[in-house]
Amino acid sequence: MQATDFPKKYYQERPAMNLKIFTNKDVTNKTVLVRTDYNVPLKKKGKSWQVVEAQRIQNSLPLIEELRKNKAKIILMSHLGRPKGEVKSDFSLKPIAEYLKKSCRLPVTFSEEVIGEKVNKMVSELKEGEILLLENLRFHSEEKKNDTAFAKKLASLADIYINEAFSASHRAHASIAAIGKYLPSFAGLHLQKEVEHLSKLMTNPVQPFVMVIGGAKISDKVEAVGNLHKVASVVLLGGGVANNFLKAEGIETHKSYLEEADKDNKISYLDLAGKLVTENRTEKILKDGYIPLPKLMTPIDVVAAPNKDSRKTQVINLSSGMKDTPDDEDLMYLDIGPRTAKLYADLLIQARTIFWNGPLGVFEKSQFSHGTQAVARAIASSDAESFIGGGDTIAAINKFGLAGRFSYISSAGGAALEFLAGKKLPGLEVIEK
Ligand code: ADP
Ligand code: MG
Repeated sequence: MQATDFPKKYYQERPAMNLKIFTNKDVTNKTVLVRTDYNVPLKKKGKSWQVVEAQRIQNSLPLIEELRKNKAKIILMSHLGRPKGEVKSDFSLKPIAEYLKKSCRLPVTFSEEVIGEKVNKMVSELKEGEILLLENLRFHSEEKKNDTAFAKKLASLADIYINEAFSASHRAHASIAAIGKYLPSFAGLHLQKEVEHLSKLMTNPVQPFVMVIGGAKISDKVEAVGNLHKVASVVLLGGGVANNFLKAEGIETHKSYLEEADKDNKISYLDLAGKLVTENRTEKILKDGYIPLPKLMTPIDVVAAPNKDSRKTQVINLSSGMKDTPDDEDLMYLDIGPRTAKLYADLLIQARTIFWNGPLGVFEKSQFSHGTQAVARAIASSDAESFIGGGDTIAAINKFGLAGRFSYISSAGGAALEFLAGKKLPGLEVIEK
């Protein structure tokens, strides 16, 4: 993909609210330091690593193109994986430089260092429109510590700073947060797009707005559910996340994945789930026989097995009495059941706005992938504006061959959820007016 299919006008007419948007004057002939998120999946081929999935790189191309047009000198920086503050060659950004050069045909040089004399020299040799990609920021432990001295050194390389890494903006790291103190700072084009799409969900979604939350990490998701259920017509729960809600409803979950509390045992995710369930319980059956749906829906049946690798699966109908659930068994709930999948699909078909994050089951295994596939298909075939986010959710729709059937796919998982939970993101505070 080249940058040409980028709907440029869109940004000029509707800049994201409150963000500092750069003008041509801000970037023309300047040295611009851009924080990107090039934390992409790589695969080892022979001795070198190759990019497997390049969406995040593609997301940065329109900005790079815009800067090049304005004769800027461009310095790109990113993290990759978790090298824990040490230089580890498996986490080098060099394969990304190769990708930018070969697949995107950009004039890129790669700096094996992040800061220091050699980098200064390379920057001084940059010509208009040329690009320098720095090595992995996380080779320096100062990055994650939001170290001001480190941020200052990064800042000294350039005239202005642009954050194009929405998906990393929930992290208070040096290249995301502290750096804002030392350079005029602006929002990147893709970042604006992410913020605008997500804001739209929170402020005025066209109803019915159906939200689907699955996946494993309830700690990441429960606050977003707590906030968004206020604007959504209904929240459909599945995956590991649903287990917390089932348990909170008093339903047996056996050996299913469960995240009862945070590491320090300070936040009980069971209590939080319980509170949401109670708030949203619908007990009244109206006189004309109409039964209002509860706002938070948990699976009415599940596909269960002793473990993720087991092919010995069974469908269990869930009820608070759980009379029909086998007792004393090593059982895990690993997918939503067929009745739930049907119910969720029926609701999704009627939606006008949809937000989906998190697979409904262990979709990596075919025996537990049906729920996720049913939901993905329902969303793909609905007329709703559909917003999808999360690394594994995107992997799932790619696996089912449904990519391209949704209105907007966010490359941000954690950051999007924190944004939707109404939290202030450190990376956005820096570039807010
Ligand atoms: P995303 O990356 O889309 O935000 P998560 O990282 O939260 O999603 O969750 C994805 C993972 O959740 C997948 O690896 C999937 O196997 C797992 N998962 C889904 N349902 C269950 C379940 N019922 N029990 C255990 N793990 C599950
Ligand atoms: Mg994930």
